[in-house]
Amino acid sequence: MSSEHFDVLIVGAGLSGIGAGYHLQHKCPGKGFAILEGRDCIGGTWDLFRYPGVRSDSDMFTLGYSFKPWTEPKAIADGPRILNYVRETAAENGIDRKIRFNHRVKRASWSTQDARWTVEAERARGGDGGADIVRFTCNFLFMCSGYYKYEEGYTPEFSGTGNFAGRIVHPQKWTDNVDYAGKRVVVIGSGATAVTLVPEMARTAGHVTMLQRSPTYVVSRPAQDPLANKLRRNLPTKLAYHLIRWRNVLWGMYFFQLSRRRPARVKQLILGGVRMALGPDYDIAAHFTPRYNPWDQRLCLVPDGDLFNAIKEKRASVVTNEIDTFTKNGIRLKDGSELEADIIVTATGLNLQVLGGLEVSVDGRAVDFARTLNYKGMMYSDVPNLASSFGYTNASWTLKCDLTCEYVCRLINYMDRRGYRQCVPHNADPDITELPSLDFSSGYVQRSIAKMPKQGSKRPWRLYQNYALDIVTLRYGKVDDGVMRYS
Ligand SMILES: Cc1cc2nc3c(=O)[nH]c(=O)nc-3n(C[C@H](O)[C@H](O)[C@H](O)COP(=O)(O)OP(=O)(O)OC[C@H]3O[C@@H](n4cnc5c(N)ncnc54)[C@H](O)[C@@H]3O)c2cc1C
Repeated sequence: MSSEHFDVLIVGAGLSGIGAGYHLQHKCPGKGFAILEGRDCIGGTWDLFRYPGVRSDSDMFTLGYSFKPWTEPKAIADGPRILNYVRETAAENGIDRKIRFNHRVKRASWSTQDARWTVEAERARGGDGGADIVRFTCNFLFMCSGYYKYEEGYTPEFSGTGNFAGRIVHPQKWTDNVDYAGKRVVVIGSGATAVTLVPEMARTAGHVTMLQRSPTYVVSRPAQDPLANKLRRNLPTKLAYHLIRWRNVLWGMYFFQLSRRRPARVKQLILGGVRMALGPDYDIAAHFTPRYNPWDQRLCLVPDGDLFNAIKEKRASVVTNEIDTFTKNGIRLKDGSELEADIIVTATGLNLQVLGGLEVSVDGRAVDFARTLNYKGMMYSDVPNLASSFGYTNASWTLKCDLTCEYVCRLINYMDRRGYRQCVPHNADPDITELPSLDFSSGYVQRSIAKMPKQGSKRPWRLYQNYALDIVTLRYGKVDDGVMRYS
């Protein structure tokens, strides 16, 4: 079977993949690249999720690309506007013309002798629902495939779901025909999706109950950033964008560090905010006081206190309890009480997935990513010429992805200058111990952590989740660091 060759193949046309295309185009001019995208459109997350109110939960000044200012008035933006921003970036730079849609990448095998990857993708035929296998070769494979399974989200095994007479919907499978106007809705979950859905659905639903097993930290923030809007009115667009971006980065880093060093103080601050929003009579201890410390899991952001307003106006309520079973009319809880519902939304999370579910082999040997060490948060021990774009857990995703792209471009240019065809990070230090790659206690992380690559106890295998430190390492640090082996 013949195969097309590219210098670089990017997998995924989401926020990261389009960003990667931009960086390659500008920093490695002359390099031929293509993007293989499994779906039929650009946007990834921001196209897939269609549930009411879908929005970012970090500000767009840091979730936006370093090279394209976010110019919309809202800093906490809704899904369609983010999708538009990604599509606009692709169109403005001609990256959309580099995308092969409906190409789901399944396998990649590296040959040291040829110093190239052979990449196999299933290309959907349309019409009959079948697929053809197509092959490509490339010198460098850049995975921008996100971090979760697109096929389906996570739903725990609930007993009695078959008994429920109403409709059960997972937010990842939302369709336009979910009609909740005037209906009783129960949203199961307490994460970012649940706190987005509850106030939005409460606008037209009869009543919305957020049913959570345990609470999450919820912080309110203005949807529009007044200082940012003022700066944007008075300064050139790019300058204003970078100033606001840095202010937000520094504030985020400060708040994260404070949470780590003085968790009790930060807990008090967050709960104080909730008390102010909901009043002294609301049972904050039961519904908004998590068992863990701030930033042991991601904080949930609510714009302009919309969740708290819905609760105060009695359009929504929170129940903290465990599910016993689904019944014909709703959900029976462990304490014997019953929540009646017409619609149940299972906002119970995502299924994490490593490298888009790709099967990888190096010289005929299958790679088990769980047994690899993550190098600088982007490459994997003993896997040559492959990087992946994986964002921060404690800050906006794109901050790290932008730096990863810059680094990959530096690496490719360095190899070109020296005539190298292969680079592979290898750990020869016996003192490095393995640690889990993510230190979040969230269910979705804990369910998958065993399958994920590990981080090491020291640089360059250690993930610091720190943008300022990563700028120093990835933008200015040596590409030939003694750990990466070139040949
Ligand atoms: C509802 C929601 C809200 C979020 N809000 C925020 C936020 O506010 N701030 C933040 O920092 N993060 C947020 N995130 C995380 C978010 O996913 C990232 O910010 C970002 O959009 C990820 O971009 P990505 O391009 O890396 O991955 P994705 O958006 O997941 O895109 C990956 C692309 O790769 C394609 N792909 C995957 N596997 C293959 C394969 N094998 N072959 C071919 N194509 C493949 C997919 O089809 C998809 O188009 C949110 C996530 C969700 C689900």
